[in-house]
Amino acid sequence: MSAGPPLARDRFDLPQGLIYLDGNSLGALPCVTRSHLDAVMREQWGRDLITSWNKHGWIDLAHRVAARLAPIVGARPNELLITNSTSVTLFKLLGAAVGARGGRSVILSEEGNFPTDLYVAQGLADLLGLQLRTVAPDRLEQAIDSKVAVVTLTHVDFRSARRHDMAAINSAAHAAGALTVWDLSHSAGAIALDLSGSDCDLAVGCGYKYLNGGPGAPAFCFVAERLHDQLRSPIQGWMGDARPFDFDPSFVPAEGIQRFATGTPPILALAALDCGVATYDGLAMSDVERASASLSEAFIAGVGRICDGQVRLESPAQAPKRGSHVVFSHPQAYAVMQALIERSVIGDFRAPDLLRFGFCPLYNSLEEIERAAAILGDILRDRAWDDPRYHARAAVT
Ligand SMILES: *Cc1c(COP(=O)(O)O)cnc(C)c1O
Repeated sequence: MSAGPPLARDRFDLPQGLIYLDGNSLGALPCVTRSHLDAVMREQWGRDLITSWNKHGWIDLAHRVAARLAPIVGARPNELLITNSTSVTLFKLLGAAVGARGGRSVILSEEGNFPTDLYVAQGLADLLGLQLRTVAPDRLEQAIDSKVAVVTLTHVDFRSARRHDMAAINSAAHAAGALTVWDLSHSAGAIALDLSGSDCDLAVGCGYKYLNGGPGAPAFCFVAERLHDQLRSPIQGWMGDARPFDFDPSFVPAEGIQRFATGTPPILALAALDCGVATYDGLAMSDVERASASLSEAFIAGVGRICDGQVRLESPAQAPKRGSHVVFSHPQAYAVMQALIERSVIGDFRAPDLLRFGFCPLYNSLEEIERAAAILGDILRDRAWDDPRYHARAAVT
């Protein structure tokens, strides 16, 4: 197989002529999702109804999807589970981590982390009488002291795409007796990860970005096998119990990763996520990462050449320091992005002045990247963004 992008264009149902550079925010629709969901509805829910829990293995579906995901994130299948949203899963993992580090009072994170990550950490800290401390990303390692129970970071920054050195931070945290919880929302499916090899404790990641699981797809959680017996989810639901169908009033955590399950698994959403994760079948993440780097490098070079200093690169210049998206700043970023979208180039705007472009090497081609840079160049040269209709803000930006 060639390692040049696109690696698997025929696996996606994308509108003709559209240049979709937002797979880091909502992955494209895989071709098989529609027929698979239709079959699950007709032959399982519709025909076999409740017997499907056994007959079609609904009860284990979250584990089967997790097993398919394992090589994409460099984890063992028994260390992964598909559970709730990213936000709720993060609450569970942070709660489990601070519970295992009793006596330590600090949750450490970074300024500029994704807001939901900080909100969840603050909510948990308020509930338990702990302190959320945030520091600049380059001061993290010094800030890990003996009060820190857990360090929680987003591996690839949602704005700048800056990539943390996961192994180095894990090792600094462990040396100080703390645990780590990584948010892999902008990493999983974008770059090669080795959660086991880099000694990660806990991690969460979004199902609807590069994993193509569909809007609001459930997130995955990773818990290193060596920690399974020591950790308890703070949301004790019956699906995390050792014997849910005994209906016993006292909770006994299940063995292994299953103790992080909460309620009844969302079967339709899991079926869609299964198709999304399957778009990576047969692909090596080292090839995906290399193809991603060639797309982002071509875009940065093209924009540099065509846009003549009108936008500024706000992402690290070297591909190994980034995830799979890049951002440029422009004072009229919102209007510029609206003008791009009208010309069938979909990226997104991030307040206050960022133009963000995500590259999915499964479906984006080098030719699309060059065309997108040229269209951006036209908009800037002609000041096409300077039109009132590009300045009206919608509810979702
Ligand atoms: C996309 C994203 C989320 C999304 O959280 P949801 O609960 O799925 O809405 C959380 N954290 C990060 C870093 C993200 O990029």
